[in-house]
Amino acid sequence: MLPEPLDQVDRTKRHSPHQNRVSSARPANSGVTRNPPPSSPEVSRRFSAHPRRDTLPELALRRLLHRMGLRYRVDIRPEPSLRRRADIVFTKARLAVFVDGCFWHSCPEHCSPPKANRTWWAEKLQGNRRRDADTDTLLRAAGWTVLRFWAHEDAATCAEAVRAAVLNGRTQAVDGYQR
Ligand SMILES: [Zn+2]
Repeated sequence: MLPEPLDQVDRTKRHSPHQNRVSSARPANSGVTRNPPPSSPEVSRRFSAHPRRDTLPELALRRLLHRMGLRYRVDIRPEPSLRRRADIVFTKARLAVFVDGCFWHSCPEHCSPPKANRTWWAEKLQGNRRRDADTDTLLRAAGWTVLRFWAHEDAATCAEAVRAAVLNGRTQAVDGYQR
């Protein structure tokens, strides 16, 4: 059994199963959201500008992958025993793909934390980064290949990388080729 060091953080964010489908908010799963900072126009703009599921970059990537003939599952736990979801999952190839939003996952090029509540945001975003790293470690330990892309990356380039990883994973899979 693998350790789940951030388990207690996760528990604070449990949605009802009913809610889960529409709003399995990834970044909200990953840190201290119990006491959001007083809202300001800037913060409100940030939140609304960053939908957390089915984001446009992720949809663009999924569309390309689908066109390549690849089939995958969306927003599921690659490893049911680990309470971590991945954006795009190839079960046979044991490949988990994440498309990380530039703001919530601290892309070095585009993440600029709001000036108000600086400390709160720093901790929040750092918590997200820690959780991402922890997720990668847990999944890899369970035999998964993990690919992470920034939302700003070119979808076609990402799709090629995913395809290569899927083919590689399939050839290694004991149950072999799917088609
Ligand atoms: Zn970025």
